[in-house]
Amino acid sequence: MALVGNLPPHVHFKGVGKSYDNRTWAVRHLDLEVLRGEFLTLLGPSGSGKTTALMMLAGFEDTTEGEIRVDGQRIDLVPPNQRGIGMVFQNYALFPHMTVAENLAFPLEVRHVSKSEITTRVHRALDLVSLPGMEGRRPTQLSGGQQQRVAVARALIFEPQLVLMDEPLGALDKQLREQMQFELKDIHARLGVTFVYVTHDQTEALTMSDRIAVFNDGHVQQLSTPDQLYERPQTDFVANFIGENNRIEGVTDDVPDHDKYLSVVLKSGMNLVALYQGTVDFRKQMPIVVSIRPERIAVLSRGESLPIEFQATVIDRIYVGDHIRFILRTDDIEKLVVKTANVSSLSTIKTGDRIRVGWRKEDCLALKP
Ligand code: ADP
Repeated sequence: MALVGNLPPHVHFKGVGKSYDNRTWAVRHLDLEVLRGEFLTLLGPSGSGKTTALMMLAGFEDTTEGEIRVDGQRIDLVPPNQRGIGMVFQNYALFPHMTVAENLAFPLEVRHVSKSEITTRVHRALDLVSLPGMEGRRPTQLSGGQQQRVAVARALIFEPQLVLMDEPLGALDKQLREQMQFELKDIHARLGVTFVYVTHDQTEALTMSDRIAVFNDGHVQQLSTPDQLYERPQTDFVANFIGENNRIEGVTDDVPDHDKYLSVVLKSGMNLVALYQGTVDFRKQMPIVVSIRPERIAVLSRGESLPIEFQATVIDRIYVGDHIRFILRTDDIEKLVVKTANVSSLSTIKTGDRIRVGWRKEDCLALKP
């Protein structure tokens, strides 16, 4: 990721809102900065406003309020074909009656690029997406994966500095999708241009992105690097949307002190210590959710100990090959999922057993519900 100091962000959504029906907001109060050269993903459930945000940037949807700037210049009133943005859609959107070469040449012809330059660039673009020699084929003579590579090549061929992709791998099978994720990431690294990418697939977002903006209900819940998003979700929604999560409800006991830990009172009356990230303003007796990832809970053998420990009953044991999942119940927590490496010391644990589990204070987060 190439970050350039003192320059405006490559893309800046400033207070952007969109309503299709003048009653509800598809996107509201969107403030988002995309840095030059980064791979930024808009991730969220279906209907959360990701495509709407992308289409406003591309110019295919008007904004209802706010402004969008590219390199500091307002572009929300510029027609889409004059924004100089490359675009890839899920359904490829290739012209079926044209060959691959003609599809690729099209964005260059409308820009009056010379014939010899077009030939050079078509070759280069097909090399970039690993499809050399396919110039004469028609889209119907290509597989889905190949068609999508042509669509990517077409978006890149006029050398845009900003490329938008809307679920580009959504129509491909799992294996091809994973391969294309790797290739798109590689293309991004080689070209050094800015990618804004939409997906509802969290694994795709985590593996490809420099940063991820998590959308819910028309606004961004959190904008972070993949590891921060997973390790330090700032909201209950993000903790549950990204990865697996144990969610334990309680109320706050003390106002947090300087060490950033908070005492949470569970329904049973037990106190649980959790890390508070300073994003919410706590009061006593405020509803709070404690979040702990299943793989951060350890099954303790004799002699082992951790700062937070429980006796638990094994409700279920699920064998997944490389790991084992235990569904547990404790006196204070109704359900706790534990995900642990499949090591021989765990092979004797069975349903109904009492075991000891524990975690470190810093792995347990206090979040606003
Ligand atoms: P996502 O990309 O996250 O699935 P969308 O941006 O497509 O979300 O949709 C956000 C909201 O806007 C949804 O409630 C959706 O039904 C609505 N919406 C999207 N496109 C249109 C449209 N063309 N006309 C009316 N409502 C729309």
